Amino acid sequence: MDNSSAANGKPLDFIRQIIADDLQTGKHQKIVTRFPPEPNGYLHIGHAKSICLNFGVAEEFNGLCNLRFDDTNPSREEITYVNSIQEDVRWLGFEWTEQVRFASDYFPQLYDFAVRLIELGKAYVCQLSPEEIRQYRGTLTEPGQNSPYRERGIAENLALFEQMRQGELAEGSHVLRAKIDMASANLNLRDPVLYRILKVAHHRTGQSWQIYPMYDYTHCLSDMLEGITHSLCTLEFEDHRPLYDWVLATLQTPCHPRQIEFARLNLSYTVMSKRKLLKMVTGSHVDGWDDPRMLTISGLRRRGYTPAAIRSFCRNIGIGKSDSRIDMAVLENEVRADLNLKAERRMCVLEPLKLVIDNYPEGRQEQVMAKNHPQNEEMGERPITFSKELYIERDDFMELPGKRYHRLAPGREVRLRYGYLVRCVSVDKDPASGVVNTVHCTYDPDTRGGSAPDGRKVKGTIHWVSATDAVPVTIRLFDRLFSVADPEEDKSLDFLDHLNPASKVVLTGALAEPSLLEPPDFPLQFERQGYFFADPEESRPGQPVFNRTVTLKDSWEGKQ
Ligand code: ATP
Ligand code: MG
Repeated sequence: MDNSSAANGKPLDFIRQIIADDLQTGKHQKIVTRFPPEPNGYLHIGHAKSICLNFGVAEEFNGLCNLRFDDTNPSREEITYVNSIQEDVRWLGFEWTEQVRFASDYFPQLYDFAVRLIELGKAYVCQLSPEEIRQYRGTLTEPGQNSPYRERGIAENLALFEQMRQGELAEGSHVLRAKIDMASANLNLRDPVLYRILKVAHHRTGQSWQIYPMYDYTHCLSDMLEGITHSLCTLEFEDHRPLYDWVLATLQTPCHPRQIEFARLNLSYTVMSKRKLLKMVTGSHVDGWDDPRMLTISGLRRRGYTPAAIRSFCRNIGIGKSDSRIDMAVLENEVRADLNLKAERRMCVLEPLKLVIDNYPEGRQEQVMAKNHPQNEEMGERPITFSKELYIERDDFMELPGKRYHRLAPGREVRLRYGYLVRCVSVDKDPASGVVNTVHCTYDPDTRGGSAPDGRKVKGTIHWVSATDAVPVTIRLFDRLFSVADPEEDKSLDFLDHLNPASKVVLTGALAEPSLLEPPDFPLQFERQGYFFADPEESRPGQPVFNRTVTLKDSWEGKQ
């Protein structure tokens, strides 16, 4: 491709510009990126940004992208996460180069590099306790103090490090530290810990290791071993970059990837950290990692989001260098735009009210044709049954309507979508409660299909189902999981205090067209109600459960 401009004609973001320049100048012939999740939770929409960036630039610049599990913390990691992460990356539409990689595959090499650092006099075994290490580190305004173990001889360090590895020393008693500069303005360079003793089994290496390398040490070397050219990470690693570079420079590695930081994605009305998401799962505040209200990839998938919508969202928010919070409405607009094109239309009445057409012949039924998509003829049409008894949406009728109400009311005429024009003539009420339970109408037989031969106008068109064949379906309506835009802002409160108690509403009395009894595996629009997706976990044949993916319009602002 022409590296001076993006494929879509938009100017390149600063990372793509760097990559384009590196290819132009011949610094690299082929670029290699990686997506490096820690397998300690499910991926969320923030990870999607990183996935779309790493796999995206590899695709655009004809390069490669690895999937590497950063599995250096055995106590928090699980194989289920490893599997779900791969599923999510694939679902988003990306495929990694060759086999999946694991940082743990490099444990032997990382150990050898640590030995090399000791031999170079650049690492030492330290016996300060974790608490003492913290004290000796100093603060942002005060330099740190050298550890009393800093000047230990190379041979002794090598022997102790070997003992650490053999499991001869107690957890927490010794660590291996880089020997850099305890007075550095960057705290990350004040002799950071490279290895700690952890007598914990690892999900891949089992009991073979008693010591585990720290993230910063592991990451740069793993990148180097894989020949990564551009190591893209989020801004919080900016202060770690000098350490990344120090390790590679000190070891004089044959390749030295360039770390470049970009701003993480923050979204309003949600939290993004896996630690917090885990807390919501373990505390049963949601129904699992893939709860459709969760902003995890698996939750979004279950809710009916499409990979195309998520990719488009990531593309459109762009890549920048300053942290910001994206409004949830931006994400919702993306899925709306995609589903508007893709979703077949159906009719479903969420809160039914019976409508009887008094002048329609008893026992008669007719088939009317309904379009599966109003603009796309190729999506075809389907027959639906029209009959004397129908159900309409309870809020499509009002006994005492205001001026701007254009739906059904006593004496008013509306169009039944794809059916006839009907006029309300009377209502039946529940004797005890006084609530309207049946609306009586007359229909105009000359208006089949919805238009009147005399050209008279009706303002309202409402959806309906026939009492003769409508089927019961369960509907779940979702609202934002949190009731404030930034649940983490007020540090005096727990983020869980801001959970929205009404984030899930289950409707069990909804009635739909009969074909929906078999849960479809494609997205739908229920006319006038939003986009819906049959829950793949909880739907059963004959008992569909529909999740509302998103409403038709952004109604959130109006609700507040
Ligand atoms: P969390 O804070 O949610 O636990 P993490 O950064 O610890 O996230 P990792 O598994 O280490 O999660 O992340 C894998 C990659 O995804 C990293 O490169 C990380 O920078 C990136 N990433 C994580 N969260 C976001 C986000 N909100 N926006 C963009 N990239 C992200
Ligand atoms: Mg992490």
